[in-house]
Amino acid sequence: MRPCKRNSPYSGSSHSVKNPQSAICNPQSAFRNPQSKVPGLYIHIPFCLKKCDYCSFYSISSLSLIPDYLEALFKEMEMARDSWDSFDTVYLGGGTPSVLTLQQIESILTRIQKQFVLLPDTELTLETNPGDLNLPFLQGCRAMGINRLTIGIQSFDPNTLGFLGRRHSLSQAHSAIENSRRAGFQNVGLDLIYGIPGQDPDAWLKTLNQALLFSPEHLSCYQLTLEDKTPLGGRYQKGEFRLHDEDGQYDFFMRTSERLEEAGYLHYEVSNFARSSLFTSRHNQKYWNHTPYLGLGPSAHSFRNGERWWNHSDLRQYLTDIEEGRLPVEREEPLTIEQLQLEALFLGLRTRRGISLQDFTRTYQCDLLSEKKEIIEKLTEEGFLSVQEGHLIPTRSGLAIADSLALI
Ligand code: SF4
Repeated sequence: MRPCKRNSPYSGSSHSVKNPQSAICNPQSAFRNPQSKVPGLYIHIPFCLKKCDYCSFYSISSLSLIPDYLEALFKEMEMARDSWDSFDTVYLGGGTPSVLTLQQIESILTRIQKQFVLLPDTELTLETNPGDLNLPFLQGCRAMGINRLTIGIQSFDPNTLGFLGRRHSLSQAHSAIENSRRAGFQNVGLDLIYGIPGQDPDAWLKTLNQALLFSPEHLSCYQLTLEDKTPLGGRYQKGEFRLHDEDGQYDFFMRTSERLEEAGYLHYEVSNFARSSLFTSRHNQKYWNHTPYLGLGPSAHSFRNGERWWNHSDLRQYLTDIEEGRLPVEREEPLTIEQLQLEALFLGLRTRRGISLQDFTRTYQCDLLSEKKEIIEKLTEEGFLSVQEGHLIPTRSGLAIADSLALI
């Protein structure tokens, strides 16, 4: 997962698992994933005041098209309303949703409620940049029903913020968190990045300890990874700095997990920690367990009935499509049973809940414990997996190499 946030399940060039043959055990079986789970709604706000130097998410830094975008978004909602009914999570992500005014955010929520049913106790998340979070803005967000805030802190070290090209200052990071509490938010998540070039694990733990002083309900800690097309990726290609090697990354990961579990947090997914099970991200869990979700806005992904599709990562194209009455979909990808099965392994083994062996057998006609007996026994002996209460569960070391575990 890339840094900043991970609200979209697949944002790289590979949208699904392409070569699942090593992991499947019964490719002929019918996909019977239960679809009774309530879907989630993701809305991509494709604007950032300034692009960060490591970021490859789709957004533009001119805000002049926000009014046109909102009009188009409302039309996209209208197009979707006949196929989607109710949601119990809404996630305003991006980009930087907090560059919108309170009136603009309220207009989005009002329009969602006009077109869809939001179930009682819907989790309503807003992704934010600390530079935008003054008290009146946060009070306004709280008053309109937003009940979960994620704040892109990334680091409590000013040099690291500078290296990453973040637009916010250290003092803005502090006051953003304090203001969120003053405004009444009781579910606040902080996003952090580790593994910065030149950073050693002790320096990272200083940032982590500063975050803990605020007792956030949620922490997302992402390893810095760089794509070539980003400014930092370009500098890396030119050899201006080095990234940590695999052993170094493993060390960062283990020390992060140990420190946060020692502080009482649940390490419930590779990059995600919650102060208790009440505060795990309900929305993101839908991505990890094949619950349907609808994504609206440029680059947003959707998933339902074994099919994934995604919108153009281009605001102009998006606006044109909507204006001409077309869905702004770039591509649809029906997933084969093999792909779904491998995804279930890949995503399940990134979570501490692991994979329910009974559900897996029912859905894929595949008894993992007998079909993959040898490799599961080997990984269990080596301390990467365990079988507990009917679940195949990655240990902490297993989470550190979760992507490889899926290839069992
Ligand atoms: S604020 Fe977030 S989405 Fe925007 S450029 Fe920075 S990392 Fe990317």
